[in-house]
Amino acid sequence: MPVQKISRKEYLLSKILVNPETGCWEWQGYIMPKGYAQACFHSVHALAHVAMYEELVGPVPEGLILDHTCHDWRVCEGGKACPHRRCANPDHLEPVTYLENNRRSNSNSAKQGRQTHCKHDHPLSGENLRIGPDGKRICRQCASNRKRSPEYQKWQYAYYRSERYKELEEKRKRRRT
Ligand SMILES: [Zn+2]
Ligand SMILES: [Zn+2]
Ligand SMILES: [Zn+2]
Repeated sequence: MPVQKISRKEYLLSKILVNPETGCWEWQGYIMPKGYAQACFHSVHALAHVAMYEELVGPVPEGLILDHTCHDWRVCEGGKACPHRRCANPDHLEPVTYLENNRRSNSNSAKQGRQTHCKHDHPLSGENLRIGPDGKRICRQCASNRKRSPEYQKWQYAYYRSERYKELEEKRKRRRT
């Protein structure tokens, strides 16, 4: 029997099943531990959705990654159980920057970025919003409330009585004279 020669495009198309409800092209081959589909053509491994995009649309623009637009962080938690990661429908793929891809996910930084209020329901915007040195968003109201809390004042009182504080005060006095 002669060896059947099929193109990469034919191979990819033979491995998908179209979900009539979502339109997703669900990969029927190997699914990697993180939920992505893996294509293996002539011993060359590739992400199936990327390979499909290359075959049907063209190369992914440099510096961009393919985002699954069928995945919506509002309804899908993401992660390895996400059924969209294995989708190879080029119509469900959009080249975006890594940052944009992260923004469309449920990562901790994306979740924080979407928060409009702190856990005490103060607005995380305008005057009340401060960006910390690590890029984290800080509620000014909560920060000042913490300073007024008895625990903080106790800590402050202890600090003023500590040896370290006395040392610093001595130094300051010496500098003044
Ligand atoms: Zn899809
Ligand atoms: Zn999903
Ligand atoms: Zn707050």
